Amino acid sequence: MVQNVRIAVVGAGITGLSTHYFLEREARRQGLAVHVETWDPRPVPGGNVRTATENGWQCEEAAESILNSRQETMELALELGLADRIVQASPLARKRFIVWKGRLRPMGPNSVLGAFPTWGAKLRALWEPFVSRGPQDESVAEFGARRLGRGIMEQIMDPMVTGVYAASPERLSVRSAFPRIKTMEMAHGSLCAGLWAAHRERKAEGRKHPSGSYTFRGGMAELGRTIASNVAGPVHQKRQILSIARDGQRWTLGAADGSRSEFDHVVLAIPTFDVARIDGFPADLMPDLGLLRYNPVCVVALGFDRSQVDHPLDGFGFLVPKLENRKILGTLFSSTLWPHTVPAGKVLLRTMVGGGRQPILAEYTEPDLVEMVRGELSELLGVRGDPEFVHIARYARGIPEYPVGHHDTVRRLKTQLEGTGLHLAGNAWDGIGVNDCVAAALPRARAILESL
Ligand SMILES: Cc1cc2nc3c(=O)[nH]c(=O)nc-3n(C[C@H](O)[C@H](O)[C@H](O)COP(=O)(O)OP(=O)(O)OC[C@H]3O[C@@H](n4cnc5c(N)ncnc54)[C@H](O)[C@@H]3O)c2cc1C
Repeated sequence: MVQNVRIAVVGAGITGLSTHYFLEREARRQGLAVHVETWDPRPVPGGNVRTATENGWQCEEAAESILNSRQETMELALELGLADRIVQASPLARKRFIVWKGRLRPMGPNSVLGAFPTWGAKLRALWEPFVSRGPQDESVAEFGARRLGRGIMEQIMDPMVTGVYAASPERLSVRSAFPRIKTMEMAHGSLCAGLWAAHRERKAEGRKHPSGSYTFRGGMAELGRTIASNVAGPVHQKRQILSIARDGQRWTLGAADGSRSEFDHVVLAIPTFDVARIDGFPADLMPDLGLLRYNPVCVVALGFDRSQVDHPLDGFGFLVPKLENRKILGTLFSSTLWPHTVPAGKVLLRTMVGGGRQPILAEYTEPDLVEMVRGELSELLGVRGDPEFVHIARYARGIPEYPVGHHDTVRRLKTQLEGTGLHLAGNAWDGIGVNDCVAAALPRARAILESL
């Protein structure tokens, strides 16, 4: 039996915490004696997944919700006893809007016959099945324009990409950001054929494609908090890892409090710019880390009395195409999704500002941000007067923007690190959704244990 194996996880975001949890759970199941420890400089676990609560208002600082389309996080939450805490988004949130010519246009099957997307864009999209396969990787903008035409790219895909990645579709890799879509093209020749094949597969297996998204009664922060309280090894908050050194087969980590500890495996579940700051990280891997950029983004949450907003807010929220030349990327109708998060008779609107499209706007002062967002919401939703609640979360380097060719970078780095006991993890490598972070943690934990 393998004994006294020590594993360090650097970073107590969702990636680090779920890796810690799965390492212990799988080791227990396999009868392995493994000790796991996690470090993070922040005072509470969860990384960027944080919830603010103030005077009856509850709002997310980053991730609003978790998609039902994948089940990994849901399974983990159920295993952790969170069944009673899960809150599914209101059915009203099925409707989504895109701004076009200064107005909110509903999206969905019914909109196929409407005036938006434009008829030119719709007709061009019908040509999609006849477009030949593209290169192994290209930008989302190139992929979208090539397969579906510039119209659909600019009117639908551009705002959707911005809504998820806050990235520039001209730089974002389709293969890394939307692997399923690129795989459909490569495997089936067209998205139409790929979607049809996926539909038939689901039907044959009797699988229903779950839609919508969920959170937890106390907000997304409950997830990190609960994982951290369900692991046996320590999660050291307020303790940053500053250095790493290879010592034979083991790694020595140096923490900000001056302590040094030895480990057989080290999982760096932190952003690439933080990896680059760790003294002793292998210099030959630095150039690859530098290829990834993170766009600045601000989340401006404004709360109003219901009477101050004309729009019915009967949906998930709206996204803004670049062509609209507005100063915001999109707004979520948080109080429609989760009515329990606001005082009675109030509404909460969460707006994203900056991103790859307008990074400079994310640097505005708080009063300027509020004024700018209020002005935009006034034109688009008929919002009047001052907000009763304001909460701003800033990310100087928010969400990683996978460049074209990122897939090869990931493969190269993983090959170089193979057998060293050092592992790169997190949203820079495995996808940015909370589901992606949790989904990648289990195979990572199993692979580490198998290597012992
Ligand atoms: C504005 C915004 C909105 C989003 N919306 C959604 C959404 O609605 N749904 C969704 O699924 N996803 C969403 N995401 C993405 C998702 O929240 C993240 O991709 C995911 O939480 C990343 O988790 P992580 O653990 O990989 O990284 P992080 O959450 O970044 O955690 C990394 C941790 O490492 C720590 N760290 C850094 N350096 C060190 C060091 N030297 N020593 C020790 N610790 C260190 C940091 O303090 C941090 O806590 C959103 C992200 C943002 C920014």
